[in-house]
Amino acid sequence: MGRIAYVNGRYLPHGRAGVHIEDRGYQFADSVYEVIAVHGGHLVDEEAHLDRLERSLSETRMAWPMARRAMRVVIRRMICRNRITDRGMVYLQVTRGVAPRDHAFPASPTSSLVMTARILPPINPEALRRGVSVITTPDLRWKRTDIKSTSLLPNVLARQQAIDVGADDAWMLDPDGNVTEGSASNAWIVGQDGSLTTRQADWRILKGVTRRVILRIAAERHLRINERPFSVAEVKVAAEAFMTSTTSLLKPVVRIDGVHIGDGKIGPVSAHLLRAYMEHLEEIGAGAQEGQHG
Ligand code: PMP
Repeated sequence: MGRIAYVNGRYLPHGRAGVHIEDRGYQFADSVYEVIAVHGGHLVDEEAHLDRLERSLSETRMAWPMARRAMRVVIRRMICRNRITDRGMVYLQVTRGVAPRDHAFPASPTSSLVMTARILPPINPEALRRGVSVITTPDLRWKRTDIKSTSLLPNVLARQQAIDVGADDAWMLDPDGNVTEGSASNAWIVGQDGSLTTRQADWRILKGVTRRVILRIAAERHLRINERPFSVAEVKVAAEAFMTSTTSLLKPVVRIDGVHIGDGKIGPVSAHLLRAYMEHLEEIGAGAQEGQHG
């Protein structure tokens, strides 16, 4: 049995699923999305992702394509139909629907909903602990990157720019030379004093769900936390750096623009936070989290 996609009420073979050529998501990137991880067959922080979807929809004046409860059912069916029994991810995208091409909203828009899901290999802790290198590049995005919109062209170009020069990813810079975030992750540094710094979640970054969990874990462990902009110069003299996202979890960053950060290996604070985040996932996988019922 192959993968199954969900398109506006229908479950279709992944390779044959498609949307209308006048879908506004396709034509204008008039759409928002979420990516939710599955661990041990259970959804990871599902409510936080749906809360963020709710916010993205309301900020873009888009209607839910179905009730939130119904969406939770479809997400579970997708996990089941795609046979995700351990690790995987669900991608869901809501667009302002299909209409003759015109910038103004359609008179009576009907939101479209597409979902895909796939199995991911089990987490390889050694691979996670291995560091990655980043380059820096100007943040060319629009001024509402707090909305999880599918207009990701600047992110795509930034990632490819990194790949083209043999790096793994790009960290984007605001006009003051401060790091906003990664092409698909939030950016963090650990100072020489052991304090943790990540940019404040305003309109310039996406408020990552993983970011929120890491902040909670760090607070529980009484780490000193700063939510403020930080410069590339600060990254270069930091003790550690890492990035976080739903799919990459917590990844150490050991080189920026060719300059080593720390000793080229995962640092103690990053290692500690990664372990704690893995415990968070294990609790969810064991079904221990409230509201997680597969
Ligand atoms: N920033 C950007 C630009 C992203 O694309 C992502 C991944 N969706 C993140 C941050 C991390 O968010 P999350 O932890 O919710 O996956």
